[in-house]
Amino acid sequence: MEKAYNQAHETDIYQKWEESKSFTPEKDPNKKPFTIIMPPPNANDPLHVGHAMFVSVEDILIRYHRMKGDAALWLPGTDHAGIETQFVFEKKLAKDGKSRFDFDRETLFAKIWEYVQDNSGVAVAQMKRLGASADWDRFTFTLDPNVVTFVYNTFERLHKDNLVYRAEKLVNYCVKCGTGYSELEVEYEERIDPLYYVKYPIKDSPSEFVTVATVRPEPLFADTHLAVNPKDKKRKHLVGVTVLNPLTGAEMPIIADEFVDPAFGTGVVKLTPAHDANDWAVAEKHNLPRNVAITMQGKLTDKAGQFAGLRVLEARKQIVAFLTTNGFIEKVDEKYSHRIATCYRCHSVIEPLPLPQFFISVKPLTEPALLAIKNKQVKIHGTGREKILVNWLKNLRDWNVSRQIVWGIRIPVWYEVAKNPNISVTFLSESGEKVRGELGELLNHYPLSEITKGLQSLIAPNDSTFVISQNNPGDGYIQETDTFDTWFSSGQWPVVTLKVREGDFEYFYPTSVMETAYDILPFWVMRMLMLGLYLTNEVPFTDVYFHGLIRDEQGRKMSKSVGNVINPIDLVEKYGSDALRMALVMSTTPGTDNNVGESKVRGMRNFSNKIWNATRYVVEGSKEEPVLASKLRDEEVLTHISEIVDTATKMLDSLKLGLAAEYLYQEFWRWYCDQVIEMHKKGEITTKTLTRALHTFLNLLHPFAPYVTEASYQQLSDKKTPLLITASWPVK
Ligand SMILES: [Zn+2]
Repeated sequence: MEKAYNQAHETDIYQKWEESKSFTPEKDPNKKPFTIIMPPPNANDPLHVGHAMFVSVEDILIRYHRMKGDAALWLPGTDHAGIETQFVFEKKLAKDGKSRFDFDRETLFAKIWEYVQDNSGVAVAQMKRLGASADWDRFTFTLDPNVVTFVYNTFERLHKDNLVYRAEKLVNYCVKCGTGYSELEVEYEERIDPLYYVKYPIKDSPSEFVTVATVRPEPLFADTHLAVNPKDKKRKHLVGVTVLNPLTGAEMPIIADEFVDPAFGTGVVKLTPAHDANDWAVAEKHNLPRNVAITMQGKLTDKAGQFAGLRVLEARKQIVAFLTTNGFIEKVDEKYSHRIATCYRCHSVIEPLPLPQFFISVKPLTEPALLAIKNKQVKIHGTGREKILVNWLKNLRDWNVSRQIVWGIRIPVWYEVAKNPNISVTFLSESGEKVRGELGELLNHYPLSEITKGLQSLIAPNDSTFVISQNNPGDGYIQETDTFDTWFSSGQWPVVTLKVREGDFEYFYPTSVMETAYDILPFWVMRMLMLGLYLTNEVPFTDVYFHGLIRDEQGRKMSKSVGNVINPIDLVEKYGSDALRMALVMSTTPGTDNNVGESKVRGMRNFSNKIWNATRYVVEGSKEEPVLASKLRDEEVLTHISEIVDTATKMLDSLKLGLAAEYLYQEFWRWYCDQVIEMHKKGEITTKTLTRALHTFLNLLHPFAPYVTEASYQQLSDKKTPLLITASWPVK
């Protein structure tokens, strides 16, 4: 045997496991299924240490249950990660001097697809390197055609159950680029702008005024209310007072809401619900009208009277002049510094604009989920996480599933063009020119086929009629250009991954453990529970195990800018996969963050060597049968071994993996290596007992340190199975 454990053999070992087909469970009705659906990592990204954590935890559970004789399925996959991936791809395009607006949506989708395909092997290869004994034959990607079909069916079913509706929601919109942006794509800038103090005459006493400070006087004509903070003693008396709109003369009541900052400006604010996120929320709460003042083209709407059609900045100038002339400007603070949202591409100011979006009513979905938690049909492992989950479920707002990106599952909604001529579209014509306008008008100049072929995006008004269909329902239809929120498809993951293969769902569902980081609880775990119950009337998993976040040795969050990110694969190359797995799992409790640095991994490398060296002693150093051996000492050793088996099994069954790792580490090192081997050296126990104890330890340690235990096992002469991975879990 080699003098020290050599991790260079790990890829050979992995290959042997794969060739033995031991990752693929047998659907034996006499066996108990044990199923874990892997949280699909972003198909486009290499693994980070958080992924190494889930691979370690899930592989421990799968290997343990496989050895116990269960039909253990670990179903792997990757996620298209809509916004993140498209964002990364666009940055790449920008380097080549191009942007998403140079392509129609189908071409852009095809380009991102290709890009992701080029990178998608990396994450899988890395998971294999970490020892993941997942069933790769069942690998599923969130954009596989049968997954897409399943997601379409779910949407159709939700619609039939009256759980889908359209409503307007504020979107970060760049009028220059003609598109909405996600929060990720918005850049914030400090700017100096004038702050205008606008006077509103009090209706019952027109010589008195209420003054409001604003940087945006131009949508003022559409405002209907002012607001003060109810706790603001100085201005409480204004609540219920009616003022007049200085531009239109319309009556505007003053309402009370706690969102108003009494320290800002005059302590009174104007509400512009259709163009400000805070105001939008207030309007929702108080049921106020949300009058649109600015069009998608960045111009004032018809309601603006003499200012209608003006661009925002020009309108601001003219409206300020009008207000000044008529004595409605008290003063101007020319050097007001504030933070504004700008477009990451063209740096124009982002206009929050209401866009029609698809929503899912969540109440009928959250209620069964809450009940399942209450009835312990699903158990949550992770300190304090159950309470958080319940809280999220109780307060969840309706789910906006529309995203204005191409990289995702396109919403299967079709509009009949004859019935919806006021849909506005942006497309690239055959001559490559970018065209924008309303469909009814554009059809006078372009055939529908040219518009749909070059289509970039469309905005269908809120009252547009539509049909849901997986394919084009006939001539004269145009498909919605928005895609589903990524969590809409991954929220169906435990169901869809099993439904796409015959017989899997019936055998493996509900799955056993959902294991993931606690930070995606509200996005993912909650939605899987909701949709799993909706689709199947059963919980999608019986246990949720939340692992903590991995922090650096000083407990800081790992981040590229701090430079404290550890690359799991570098550590694996240096110290072996087992060392990293042990370092990640050792002594952790679910839901609690864990500090890991290179020194911890290096320490665990010593443990791999300890296993290897103990095996070497048994194989090479124990040829001579000790003469002093007593039956009594042998029995002592075997009794303790059986206690260890019992304790470790109980810990694993109750998902106390960190504790089990630490316990086995200590027993192997402090008891077996320090005492049992010494007893054998002194001739106090038989080689048979020494070997039997080692066999048991290799079995018990295999889920945690699969490579070194397999490599050691291969050195032993009396193997019951050719590979340790398929050996049986020891019984007491
Ligand atoms: Zn822009």
